[in-house]
Amino acid sequence: MKKPEETGLNKTSAWDSVDRKAVDRFATEYMSVIRDAKTEREFVEAIATIAQAEGYTLIDPLSRKAFPKSDKLLFINRGKNAVLVRLGKHPLGDGVTMVAAHVDAPRIDVKQNPLFESTGLALFQTHYYGGIKKYQWVTIPLALHGVVFDKNGRKLQLRIGEDEADPVFSISDILPHLGQAQAEKKLSEGVAGEALDAIVGHIPSSNKNEKTPVKANSLKVIAEQLHIDERAFAAAELEMVPAMKPREVGFDHSMILAYGHDDRICGYTAARGLLDQRNVPDRTQIVLLVDKEEIGSDGDTGMQSEFLELIIERLLHELNEKATVRQVLWNSVALSADVGAGMDPNYLDVFEAANAATVGNGIVITKFTGSRGKTSAHDASAETLHKFLEILDKKAVPWQVAEMGKVDVGGGGTVAKFLSKRGIETLDAGPALLSMHAPQELASKADLYCCYLAYRAFLEQGR
Ligand SMILES: [Zn+2]
Repeated sequence: MKKPEETGLNKTSAWDSVDRKAVDRFATEYMSVIRDAKTEREFVEAIATIAQAEGYTLIDPLSRKAFPKSDKLLFINRGKNAVLVRLGKHPLGDGVTMVAAHVDAPRIDVKQNPLFESTGLALFQTHYYGGIKKYQWVTIPLALHGVVFDKNGRKLQLRIGEDEADPVFSISDILPHLGQAQAEKKLSEGVAGEALDAIVGHIPSSNKNEKTPVKANSLKVIAEQLHIDERAFAAAELEMVPAMKPREVGFDHSMILAYGHDDRICGYTAARGLLDQRNVPDRTQIVLLVDKEEIGSDGDTGMQSEFLELIIERLLHELNEKATVRQVLWNSVALSADVGAGMDPNYLDVFEAANAATVGNGIVITKFTGSRGKTSAHDASAETLHKFLEILDKKAVPWQVAEMGKVDVGGGGTVAKFLSKRGIETLDAGPALLSMHAPQELASKADLYCCYLAYRAFLEQGR
């Protein structure tokens, strides 16, 4: 294929200007966090632990007690959505500076009535979560994470498949010898949603009267190990995620192959950017880590929920300010921190090179999202772009401007439109990935570090 003509402002490698030792240090920390935090709950917990170790106080916004005297506050919404607040010197009514990232990632969810037996195997029925290419999720090792209640009503946090001694689970695929009909289907139809059932057991029960002996034995093993019965699955929230650790890629160790970069790479860099603020800021700084972005940001833990309003309302009350929540929001600025598509050398034809992101060229600024004539887009104003680019240039943070692909080829959205709907001046900015939404996504260590620098600078300078 012909090499795309490379024009535009975005063709300088960030590796030329970043401190490579600092990049490596930062990447190692990030990899250790995402190695252990593979669900929205686990990531919220990991960030909460880090924040509390750095002096943030966990507060219940619904509590009637006065807030403790602290300018570093942490709020957690139902275990899946965290908000970090660093109070500034200026009144909240002047607006706040925010970075919002999502902490959910595409995965395979377990159904509420999951266990069945077929062909001498016990399997879990599943329903995929988010925009996945289904064929990528078969034949890989999967770990089971999530929440289930035992017979005594005790909440268990499952995490099976991450330790070497743990078993893993796996979805089968048909062998090529018998896969002719599958091979002739469209790629999107080659693996059906209902063909994503995961194998979870194989040994039959010794009770010969059992109609489904493998299922019966699996239930027995599950009861022995977890003290739960079949009914417990009805009230469980279980997710299957790739049972693989983050790995460095390339002879030069320059990239990270891992599950869930989208969007924990932004969640981690944004949180770190806030935690590393040295001085008390002028304007209040907020990092929002939200759930459910991959399925539309709905629900009480997604960006469309009003948890942010609840916190601001409570803060105004605690600070004795007369401003309204709407005034605070309308005066605020935000980065919607989410990943973009990096130009893929194997699939150059879907990109328009001058306006596509290149992995390793720094944080990607995206004026607008959406698809087909910018439908359903968040489209940032020139003023917003100008202010942010000035901040990046002042701090010498490598950046590039890009949109997702060629016109009419596809598109996507982020939480930006749910922020800007509230009157918050919002801009999309995040790293470019390869293999986005695959079980293992690929990110450049240089971009990871550029995002950290960019979010830190934005929080510091706001406007
Ligand atoms: Zn995302």
